[in-house]
Amino acid sequence: MTDQLERGPARTAHAGVLLSSVGERGVLCDFYDEDGSDTYRDLIQDSDGTLETREFAARVPGDPGPVLELAAGMGRLTFPFLELGWEMTALELSATVVAAFRKRLAEAPSDLRKRCTVVQGDMSAFALGKRFGAVVISSGSVNELGEADRKGLYASVLEHLAPGGKFLLSLELTKPVDAEPVERSQELSGRSGRRHVLHVKILPSEEIQEITIYPADETADPFVVCTHRRRLFTVDRIVRELGQAGFDVVARKPFASTGGGRDDMVLVEAQRS
Ligand code: SAM
Repeated sequence: MTDQLERGPARTAHAGVLLSSVGERGVLCDFYDEDGSDTYRDLIQDSDGTLETREFAARVPGDPGPVLELAAGMGRLTFPFLELGWEMTALELSATVVAAFRKRLAEAPSDLRKRCTVVQGDMSAFALGKRFGAVVISSGSVNELGEADRKGLYASVLEHLAPGGKFLLSLELTKPVDAEPVERSQELSGRSGRRHVLHVKILPSEEIQEITIYPADETADPFVVCTHRRRLFTVDRIVRELGQAGFDVVARKPFASTGGGRDDMVLVEAQRS
């Protein structure tokens, strides 16, 4: 399983520079842990998953039966799936994120609440004692897992697919990684109106992307620096791994996840071979 939450936050080089400049105001956390949850909520919880949800839904016409969402986060896609009338099981590793998901669900209409089960678990090794018409995983989530854990993910999914069931993954369309490290920063607005800086550094030799998020306001107190490291790989690699794990990839459809129109993701549909 991803061990970042157990090991504690990564002190990225960029985080190191920031923390030494802000002194005692500085707090280092992982994007998915307790201290990071405020930033996560501000940036991600309600970010628009409409176009991504639509791509999943197009692959599951009619009533799919029970649907399992892996690495569900705070429900960015789960809640739109519930709105479609689906019966959902949402599995997520982080205790903080699960607690926030449960709180959000408790405030949802009872019809949605009744159709959603929340499980704290590891997507690379789970046993729910139930089979699903579809298992879905959103963009960015497979990137949490190293190679051995991805094998565990594929094996666990196979164990949970009902006959004819679909494994649907949205994957980021990444370019092959350049040989040299690449760094970039951009400012983002959270739903609270707060401004955050997102700094991304790609480490080609490790096939890792280091993410550092911190307040644009240099005087913020506490000055919370959230970090996360995620794997980088191409869609071809995941498709190849799915084939080796016992799946047939029956479709891969590029789509645009934002209104901008440029295809930045691929919806991959796989079934048991
Ligand atoms: N699906 C959500 C969304 O679209 O907003 C969250 C996606 S976020 C990129 C990745 C999520 O995977 C985080 O919530 C993280 O805590 C969770 N995660 C990381 N490793 C995991 C694992 N081994 N099993 C289950 N969830 C995991």
